[in-house]
Amino acid sequence: MLRQVRNMHVKAIKMRWLTGGDNYSYLLSTQDRTKSWLIDPAEVLEVVPNLDAAERRSIQVIVNTHHHYDHSGGNVGMLAALGKDNIKPSVIGGSHTSPAVTVVPEHMQHLKLGDLEITCIRTPCHTQDSVCYHVKDPQTGEQALFSGDTLFTAGCGRFFEGTAQEMDAALNQRLLGGVGEPNWALTKVFPGHEYTKSNVKFVRKAVYPNPNMNQAFDELDKFAAENEVTTGHFSLADETQFNPFMRLDDPLVRQAVGDDGSWSRTQVMDRLRKLKNTM
Ligand SMILES: [Zn+2]
Repeated sequence: MLRQVRNMHVKAIKMRWLTGGDNYSYLLSTQDRTKSWLIDPAEVLEVVPNLDAAERRSIQVIVNTHHHYDHSGGNVGMLAALGKDNIKPSVIGGSHTSPAVTVVPEHMQHLKLGDLEITCIRTPCHTQDSVCYHVKDPQTGEQALFSGDTLFTAGCGRFFEGTAQEMDAALNQRLLGGVGEPNWALTKVFPGHEYTKSNVKFVRKAVYPNPNMNQAFDELDKFAAENEVTTGHFSLADETQFNPFMRLDDPLVRQAVGDDGSWSRTQVMDRLRKLKNTM
């Protein structure tokens, strides 16, 4: 499952899939593969066998997108497993609720992995400590966004610790603004779960019931029907075209939630998420 974003490398590791789950951990590596971030390695027994010795040696940081156990629950075990080979990564997370965190980044804090430039975009709502990580390869201009449970392809996370207003701000101000419009089309999205199929089912039923209502969504629908794995295939620009949670002013989205023409963006977001929760 090695996925090459030209010079930098993103390897998606499936977790919990054999028991009905759909989590991803990711190994983000520099062009020469000597330095890596290991993102959300919640299931140590599934992640370790997917890493060869060189990949394990390359791990400089364990990174969490948020504190939920199916993302951060492997931090301590992974430190122990790597420690046997004297590999001692630091641990980055949005709060100390994630076990063993040593670094809590601020909103828009810049970090480096080799010459990869990483921006930490804090996106509170799903959890208050949710952080999305935007990575830019200065050699090629190619980019990736590790969006945890905040942004999914054609969907977003549940508002466990936040409000509809916060999710609108997280997706449509902090993420889009933090990445910057010139970079949207270059930025591939890597979410914390493979939820695309169920998100597409919801959007087809509730928002765009017929073909040709949204061409970008029609293309996503076709791709999701034919591919089990969709992570890393769509860009942030694609999301602005087919993700209803990023299209709160789309008349078809407003129609789907029952807006009488007077609703605020927050009301549309709130109702859209509630509709999704009932499916
Ligand atoms: Zn979560």
